Amino acid sequence: MKIYNYTDLSKSKIEELCSRQIEDDKLVEERVTDIISTVKKDGDKALFNFAKAFDKVDLEKLFLNAEELKAIASTIPAEAKKAIDTAYQNIKTFHQSQLKTEDKIETMSGVVCWRESRAIEKVGLYIPGGTAVLPSTFLMLATPAIIAGCKEIVVCSPPQSDCKTNCYLAYCAVLLGIEKVFLIGGAQAVAAMAFGTETVPQVYKIFGPGNRYVTTAKTMVQNKVAIDMPAGPSEVLVIADETANPSFVAADLLAQAEHGTDSQAILVSTSNQIIADTLKEIENQLAILPRKEIAVKAIANSYAVLTKDLDQAMQFSNEYAPEHLILATEHFQSLIPLIINAGSVFLGNFTPESVGDYASGTNHTLPTSGFAKAYSGVSTDAFLKKITFQHLSAAGLNNIGNTVEILAEAEGLEAHKNAVSIRLSFESGVGSQK
Ligand code: NAD
Repeated sequence: MKIYNYTDLSKSKIEELCSRQIEDDKLVEERVTDIISTVKKDGDKALFNFAKAFDKVDLEKLFLNAEELKAIASTIPAEAKKAIDTAYQNIKTFHQSQLKTEDKIETMSGVVCWRESRAIEKVGLYIPGGTAVLPSTFLMLATPAIIAGCKEIVVCSPPQSDCKTNCYLAYCAVLLGIEKVFLIGGAQAVAAMAFGTETVPQVYKIFGPGNRYVTTAKTMVQNKVAIDMPAGPSEVLVIADETANPSFVAADLLAQAEHGTDSQAILVSTSNQIIADTLKEIENQLAILPRKEIAVKAIANSYAVLTKDLDQAMQFSNEYAPEHLILATEHFQSLIPLIINAGSVFLGNFTPESVGDYASGTNHTLPTSGFAKAYSGVSTDAFLKKITFQHLSAAGLNNIGNTVEILAEAEGLEAHKNAVSIRLSFESGVGSQK
């Protein structure tokens, strides 16, 4: 892992360190374009063919129903069932707390404005399942969708070699009351949810992480449906001062590094000693990791930055805008107001990112690749639209009417002006008759 001294870094070098190497893969783009147009054209037939080509399975049907899910779910080990139950309760409690009613505001006497939330009626959730099936992602996406009140929740996940899904995912479906899981993966799942097929309902917004085929497809269907956010490889930035524990910091960096070879694990520290000890710990802990090969490559793509103080560390972190930010310091409280850009933040020496990945209650679907500068992670809000309302009394229209007439006239929109004037003169007519 390369070490930089923040004070020696030029503005352009900082920019370079903060930019993510997103591969512009023309081959993936071409393939995804082809998959999308084939699904649009051939519907279910294309989905069966792609399952055969990419997932190596001959599907008889494209989904598992409630009974089939129940049967698969019944094989889940008791310990895993308990862990999923606990994670679900925490995720549910946290996301339920996000449902808020807003006050009605009287902006002028007789002019009342307010907002109400309505659930997006039809949403599509993609649960990755190529190299590993991810029940945690199922909980993170379906729980807020249900809390928000989405009427139709379409779930797609790649078929496994037995033409089914695994017991963890099936158990999540039963727990969440989701009665159908489509056995569709990759770009074809995104295309099916965006355009609909004979069997797969079309949705209004697609959520969920996935590999390059999935994320490229999500980007491409945006003129048809909304998506949660653009996605890139996962990342963590750890800020550690002399109060940090190097073994904990190394474990957090490696937890990120084992995700994939393109994951980034950045260490920003005020202490040379902490950097040296953490790097030593990384070597020790790497030796016994089953996903060592992946983690080694990710760590090679990562780096450490030495800063003069925590303020400077925060400055770098805000520029990097990490998906996950860990403040490995006893002084985390004073840093909270300085955080401008981050997806999710983990405070102090006893808050590993893994707890947020699985079970604390916060969502793990977060903006990567610097998008934390403008995007939030998935929450209950992401499944809602906010509709504005207003009501004016006759007196209210009298109070605001002339302002609108003048502005409409200034913009040359006579009909706009008239929609107010006609009411004002009606009102004064009624008034004069009284
Ligand atoms: P996946 O479900 O994303 O993709 C599997 C599908 O890709 C297959 O079903 C197949 O249809 C398609 N595919 C595979 N090879 C193909 C090819 N050559 N041509 C066309 N399509 C092909 O599962 P995955 O591959 O295991 O990837 C999961 C990804 O999700 C990882 O990159 C992981 O880092 C990411 N992830 C991110 C987060 C996050 O919050 N950022 C969370 C969980 C997972």
